[in-house]
Amino acid sequence: MCQSCKQLHIYNNFRSTLQYSHEISKIRALVKLGDMSVEYATMPLEQVSGEIRGYYRHELRCCLCGQRFAVWIDTSDGSGGLCLLDQQ
Ligand SMILES: [Zn+2]
Repeated sequence: MCQSCKQLHIYNNFRSTLQYSHEISKIRALVKLGDMSVEYATMPLEQVSGEIRGYYRHELRCCLCGQRFAVWIDTSDGSGGLCLLDQQ
């Protein structure tokens, strides 16, 4: 992780949808800056707003250091997290 992507917090499990939303807003800002790119998404980042309900997953790559991340939430069973993915 580099100066840019270390702004993201690793979570084994989000305690609330607010924590999830907070990470998504940081990711959105990094993508806007061009520091991070979206590799997989169940829906566009911009559409993740308001009430969080259902299953959302995004896979991202830091454009500066190449680290890959996954962030997801599933409100049906309360699971979710932000983790590092192996580099490919
Ligand atoms: Zn990075």
